[in-house]
Amino acid sequence: FAAELAYFFRGQARKNIKILTFYCSFLTLLVMTYAALFRFLMWELEGRDYSFITGIYWTITAMSTLGYGDITFSSDPGFLFSAIVTLSGVVFMLILLPFGMISLFLAPWIEQRLRYRATMALPAETSGHILIFGFDSVTRTLTRHLQNRRTPFVIVSPDHEQAIALEEEGLQVVYGTPTDAKALRGARVEAAGHIIANLSDPENTNLCLTARSLCDTPIATLVNEPEHQDLLRLAGADQSIPLKNILGHYLASRATTRGALAHVLDSFGSLQIAEIPVQGTPFVGQTLAQAQVRQRTGLAVIGLWERGRFTTPQADTILSPKALMVLAGTAEQLKALEKVTGEEESEDRILILGHGRIGCAAASFLERRSVPFILIDCQSNPDCLDHVAVIGDATSPKVLRESGIQEAKGLIVTTNDDSTNIFLTLASRHINPDIRIVARANREENVEQLYAAGADFVVSNASVGANILSNIIEGKESIFLTEGINVFRRDLPPELIGKSIQDSRIRPRSGCSIVALERDDDQDPLVVPPPETILAKGMGLILIGSPEQEQVFSRTFRH
Ligand code: ADP
Ligand code: ZN
Repeated sequence: FAAELAYFFRGQARKNIKILTFYCSFLTLLVMTYAALFRFLMWELEGRDYSFITGIYWTITAMSTLGYGDITFSSDPGFLFSAIVTLSGVVFMLILLPFGMISLFLAPWIEQRLRYRATMALPAETSGHILIFGFDSVTRTLTRHLQNRRTPFVIVSPDHEQAIALEEEGLQVVYGTPTDAKALRGARVEAAGHIIANLSDPENTNLCLTARSLCDTPIATLVNEPEHQDLLRLAGADQSIPLKNILGHYLASRATTRGALAHVLDSFGSLQIAEIPVQGTPFVGQTLAQAQVRQRTGLAVIGLWERGRFTTPQADTILSPKALMVLAGTAEQLKALEKVTGEEESEDRILILGHGRIGCAAASFLERRSVPFILIDCQSNPDCLDHVAVIGDATSPKVLRESGIQEAKGLIVTTNDDSTNIFLTLASRHINPDIRIVARANREENVEQLYAAGADFVVSNASVGANILSNIIEGKESIFLTEGINVFRRDLPPELIGKSIQDSRIRPRSGCSIVALERDDDQDPLVVPPPETILAKGMGLILIGSPEQEQVFSRTFRH
C-alpha cells in the first residue's frame, strides 16, 4: 500500500497534486466571495441580516444544487444572483472537480497499474533462455555480453519496483520469489538454457534445490564462502564459482613477479590464450624481435597490455617491464615459456590494502608462493584466522609509510569502496613512483579512473564475474579475465570464403584481429596466420578485440 501511496508523490502525479490544491483554493475563495455577496445583497435588497456562516451554508446548498429552500431571496436581482451561484456550482463543483480528479489522478493511476504490471509468467514457447537470479553489477555486465551474442535472457526479481524498472529498460523480467517453485515454473525453468544463481549462499542453495526438484537445467552459481562450494554442488549446482577468491588470486598473481606465471585467459580447443607480465621474464627492455618468443617457445605474442591499453606489437616494439604480454599457443608451449621465465627470481614485497574476502584471498595466494606481504585494514577480519593485519586507515600517508610502501615492489588496492581505491592508488603512486599497483574496481565505470590515478593493472569485479559466467554459458571451462578485451570465436562469414585475410579487411572494418584459424579437420589451429592466408569454407575465426569491436564485427559480418 505504501508503494501505491508513494505513486501520488512522484513525477506527474506530484505536479497534479499541486494543480488540485490550487483548484481547491480557488473554490474556497469562490465560496467565500459568494457568502459575502449573499450577506450584502440580503441586507441591501431585503433588509435581512445573516451571519457569515449562514452565507457559506447558503452558498454551498445553492452551488451543490441541494437547494433546501429554507433561505431564499424574494426579489429579481436576488433570483439572478441565486441562479449565477447555482450555475457556477454546477460548472466548478459538479463538473470540473470530478472531471479533474478522474483525469489527473484516477486515469493515470489505473493506466500505470495496467501498463506496469510485472510479468509473472513467460509465454509457453519460451526456451533456451538464460535465467538470471540476483541482479547486480556482475549480472548487469553479463546481460551486456548476452545481448552482444544475441542470447535471450530473463531476469527473475522478487522486488516489484526493480522488476518494473528493469522492464522499463527493455529487459525481460519475471516477478517472483526465486526459491518459489511457482515462480520458477513461470520463468519456464525446465526449458531454460542455463540458470545463473547470484544470490546469497543460502538463497542460492535453496534455489538449486527448488530448481532440481523441477528439472535438469544446468545451474552456475557464484559463491561467497569457498567452503560452501561443496554444499552448492550437493544442492544441484553444476558449477559454483568462488568469485572473490578468484579475484584475490588474480590480483595477487599480477602484483608479484616471482616466477612469473602465465595466466590462461581463454581456450578454444587446443589453442590457449594467456597473459604473462613482462617483469620477471628475461625479455624486459628487449624488442619483440630480440625476445624471440616464437622461436624459443612457439607462442605468438598477439598483444601487449599496458595500463589498460591493448596494442598489437610490432617487431621493434620494446617490451616494457610494466606490460603484460598476451600470448596464443598450446599448453605445452606455455609450459616451455614458464621454463624460460621461471628461472628469473626477483626480490619481492607486496602491500595489500583491504583485508576483506578478496584481500584475504590475495594474501593466501602470496603466502603459498612465499612472497612476503603486509596487510593493512582499518578493522580486523573476523572470518580470517590466518593473517595478522596492520590495523590502520590506509588513506593516512603515515600508515602507508610505516608499513614500508617506499620499499615495496607491489601494491594491491582492494577496499570495497572505489573512491577509496582511487585515492589510495593516487597517494601510493605519489609516494612510490616505481611500485607496481594492481587495483580492484567494484564498478566497471571506475576502471578508467583507476588507470588515470596511476594503477598498472585494474581488475573489475563485474567484468571478471560476467566473463566467467558467459564462458560457462558457452560451455567453456577456462576463464577470461582481462578488462576491456575479448577473445571470441565466430564461424567464417560466407561472404569472406575464398578471400585472403588481407582482402577480407576484417581489421580495418571492425578493428578485430585474427588470433587463429580453426580448421575443419583435426589439425591444430593456425596461430596468427600471415595476411596472405586464404579463408576457406568451414574455418572458424578466433578474434581479439574490445567489446565494442566485437559488436562492430557482429554488425558488419552478420549472416
Ligand atoms: P570484499 O570481501 O569484497 O573484499 P570487504 O568489504 O569485505 O569486501 O573488504 C573491504 C575491506 O577494506 C574491509 O575489510 C574494510 O575494512 C577495508 N577498508 C575499507 N576502507 C579502508 C581504508 N580506508 N583503510 C583500510 N582498510 C579499509
Ligand atoms: Zn586473511
